[in-house]
Amino acid sequence: MTDKNNIEIPEEKKSLNFIEQIIEEDLNSGKHKEIITRFPPEPNGYLHIGHAKSIILNFGLGEKYKGKTNLRFDDTNPAKEDTEYVDSILEDVQWLGFKWHGKVHYASDYFNQLYEWAVKLIKDGLAYVDDQSGEEISVMRGTPTKPGTESPNRNRTAEENLDLFIRMKNGDFKDGEKVLRAKIDMSSPNMHMRDPVMYRIKHAEHHRTGNKWCIYPMYDFTHGQSDYIEGITHSICTLEFENHRPLYDWFMDHIYEEGRTRPRQIEFARLNLSYTVMSKRKLAELVEEKYVSGWNDPRMPTISGLRRRGYTPESLKLFADKVGIAKRENIIDVGLLEYSIREHLNRTAQRVMTVLNPLKVTITNYPENEEELLPAINNPEDETMGEREVPFSKILYIEKEDFKEVANRKFFRLKLGGEVRLRYAYFIKCNEVIKDETGQITELLCTYDPLSKGGKSPDGRKVKGTLHWVSAKHAIDVDIRLYDRLFSDESPDGHKNKDFKEFINPNSLTVLENCKAEPFLKNAKSGDRFQFERLGYFCVDKDSFENKIIINRTVPLRDSWKNK
Ligand code: ATP
Ligand code: MG
Repeated sequence: MTDKNNIEIPEEKKSLNFIEQIIEEDLNSGKHKEIITRFPPEPNGYLHIGHAKSIILNFGLGEKYKGKTNLRFDDTNPAKEDTEYVDSILEDVQWLGFKWHGKVHYASDYFNQLYEWAVKLIKDGLAYVDDQSGEEISVMRGTPTKPGTESPNRNRTAEENLDLFIRMKNGDFKDGEKVLRAKIDMSSPNMHMRDPVMYRIKHAEHHRTGNKWCIYPMYDFTHGQSDYIEGITHSICTLEFENHRPLYDWFMDHIYEEGRTRPRQIEFARLNLSYTVMSKRKLAELVEEKYVSGWNDPRMPTISGLRRRGYTPESLKLFADKVGIAKRENIIDVGLLEYSIREHLNRTAQRVMTVLNPLKVTITNYPENEEELLPAINNPEDETMGEREVPFSKILYIEKEDFKEVANRKFFRLKLGGEVRLRYAYFIKCNEVIKDETGQITELLCTYDPLSKGGKSPDGRKVKGTLHWVSAKHAIDVDIRLYDRLFSDESPDGHKNKDFKEFINPNSLTVLENCKAEPFLKNAKSGDRFQFERLGYFCVDKDSFENKIIINRTVPLRDSWKNK
């Protein structure tokens, strides 16, 4: 079975996951006629592969059940947010191939309504202004095993609270002088229910509301309310919000009006990936401290980094599908991500030949000024991609590591006196090795068998090895960036007393200059993807400029880490 992008759907995923089960029950029972989901990023960094999972889940459900999916920026924290991040998030969601319903929403659009609800809770005796400092509040909250202590301000009258809250809003107090808290239960076993803070004072400019507000609502008093305003039916979030759900429901109980859609929070396990870190704060550290070239460095697990590396939206969807929806935290092997891109590019990528570490080969019996064009298959997995012509001539390049002067019988590549096939071209035999004064091999003198054109044996004799090659006078120079994992530890942020940056792999980037590529690459544009025969999948980088193509290796052909 395949989906609309012709990607195979794994067997075990054809049954409904627990979120789909809930949605189908709600549709079948008539609780909802249509579902509305949302993706709610905080614009304080670039999105990463974990967000991609959440986007694919939320938008995927919207598509599957012919409902809607909103995009909403959770922009309640004025200090950390930036329009650069907003723009990158819009780009990433669209690149993944999704369309949000209607306009883009912002939690900050709801500041008036949130304020009114806060006033209502105050009037209903369900919220109070507290003068305690953040530190005092935190100490008085107790611990999971020890109940909290009520604030001396807890029993202020509604009038007094309202007056103070209005003055908070009017800017009569400094940052941290007062907060608004929900009046719930200081001895609740759930710490989130111990009179959580609803509003704090922050004299800071907001990227959308400017200086209109100096009080800002907390996440817990914003998120569910925004869902409610937008008519979200299923508010899907990650497991760390499970303990917030009673609070989500408590606020909903006190603002809900009969007849409206009441959102339901559902939690699933966040995606964790081996050999990387995923928190935006840590990714920001890598960028700010210049361990990488930016948020979209091809080694970053960000969507923009993966895109630049050569990942396709289809590969990320396949990956998300393979990972599935779990109720318990786990760590996914980054090998599965690499598998997913190989799967997609194997079927779609144009094949070309490129030599990374060139070794000159002269075909001594090939006429001096002759050249010919040999047909080559563009993608053996997809006939419709057709063929191209590859130029052949007297001087060629092969990969340095494909030649050994002396080698054992298991070395099927070229050796002195041995014969190999040049892909799509001829059998060649190495007769002589030329070295410089230091003993380095600089050139091979070979003869070709004119009867083996197309790489076919003329007389039934067999050659084991097939090499990729490039004609020297037709080759174009390209620079290639080879990437290795950014961290050399499986779980870089999983070590007590050790900073995750201690595990940065110092060899995560190798640049090879003046690699030799088949002339087909001449017109390659930023973002074009190829399979370089025998080497892996590659993608043209945006840093390329006229006369210099820079190419990122997306992944090697096989999982070379398995053998390390
Ligand atoms: P981080 O902890 O990486 O900084 P965040 O949770 O603070 O991420 P948000 O912008 O608040 O980032 O997240 C937007 C949405 O993406 C939320 O619904 C969140 O649950 C989801 N999300 C974030 N990280 C992951 C992840 N690793 N796997 C799945 N979903 C995720
Ligand atoms: Mg967050």
